[in-house]
Amino acid sequence: MEISGGGRCNCTNSFEGVGDLSAVYPRGHRLMKRLMKGFSQRDAYGWFERHGVPLVTQEDQCVFPASQDSHTIINCFLGEARRHGIEIKTGHRINSLDELSGYDYIAVTTGGSPKAEGLQWLADLGHEITVPVPSLFTFRIDDQRLHSLMGTVAEEATAQFPGTKLKGRGPLLITHWGMSGPAILKTSSQAARHLADNAYKANLLVDWWPAMSQDEVMAFLSKLVKTNGAKQVSTIAPPPLTHRHWAYLIGRIGISETKRWNEIGKKDFNRMVQLLKADTYAVDGKGQFKDEFVTCGGVALSELDPNTLECKKHPRLYFAGEVTDVDAVTGGFNLQAAWTMGYVVAQAVANKDNQD
Ligand SMILES: Cc1cc2nc3c(=O)[nH]c(=O)nc-3n(C[C@H](O)[C@H](O)[C@H](O)COP(=O)(O)OP(=O)(O)OC[C@H]3O[C@@H](n4cnc5c(N)ncnc54)[C@H](O)[C@@H]3O)c2cc1C
Repeated sequence: MEISGGGRCNCTNSFEGVGDLSAVYPRGHRLMKRLMKGFSQRDAYGWFERHGVPLVTQEDQCVFPASQDSHTIINCFLGEARRHGIEIKTGHRINSLDELSGYDYIAVTTGGSPKAEGLQWLADLGHEITVPVPSLFTFRIDDQRLHSLMGTVAEEATAQFPGTKLKGRGPLLITHWGMSGPAILKTSSQAARHLADNAYKANLLVDWWPAMSQDEVMAFLSKLVKTNGAKQVSTIAPPPLTHRHWAYLIGRIGISETKRWNEIGKKDFNRMVQLLKADTYAVDGKGQFKDEFVTCGGVALSELDPNTLECKKHPRLYFAGEVTDVDAVTGGFNLQAAWTMGYVVAQAVANKDNQD
């Protein structure tokens, strides 16, 4: 929690513009849709504000504490725990649920584990585990010229694995090892399992100008040929790209920086359109992204009652948060899943306790 959101804790999201939850919860979107009827992002927002944590919603719809400090959230939870007389034991690893046999109810909220060994203690109990793999990572691309553009941001790009619907749109950052930024992290989340199955090697298509259709891009470039024929191609970059980025892109298809627009033949013209709308890169590995990563996979959702998150095989045992096969793209959606599931479990336990 302390290091979440770069120390600021991106504690939820307004969800504005999120039409279909599968766009933000690649795993578990149906369950989240159901559970969020009980505790939504608006409920989480209201809860924090009522408990002394004013929040702010950024332009990108990510929600942070107004203090811009994750400790505000931590202190809020610790204060609430104290107020309700909840005992917290730290440095106390549970290795088997047998250690908790004296308790009436158990909620397992032990978080993600990108390695299967981390969930073995739950598998040993007979729980079906969806094989865990990492999610939210950057892409390694072995291209020295691309690396030299390190720090270049395309404000809006779409990255997609061809032949699949696995894609992400948003700012794309070029790094000294390949590509990062929201568009890539979203794509990595959508494609977490696909990439793991392919040893993190796959061709990636980048649309550098998703706001324009292919025909619109052709019309734009045709106009450039007509109006700027005598100028060098590299000196007039299509609006979403910097000159350096554009010079790199045309270099990829062998167009020299000194070539003029009126010297571009039909073949190169079409290749330029292709460059802008479907530029192909060979991803050859997973990069490091130390700010945030989550686990795709975990306790299979088929094991759980979708209304209460109670384990079907073991009554009074509940699962919530990233230990389940629910995970999200960046933007506060992962913590929202933890708040929603935590609330649902607490409510279910309270209801059951009242019935007993
Ligand atoms: C660096 C980083 C930054 C992030 N930033 C954000 C962000 O800004 N916004 C966002 O939405 N998401 C963010 N995430 C993801 C988010 O933090 C997680 O999805 C979320 O914390 C999951 O909550 P959880 O309660 O399920 O598990 P966790 O928060 O992981 O908590 C699990 C707890 O269980 C304890 N535990 C584990 N095993 C045992 C055991 N056997 N016995 C006893 N205790 C155990 C762990 O020590 C830990 O304290 C970030 C993740 C990382 C790694």
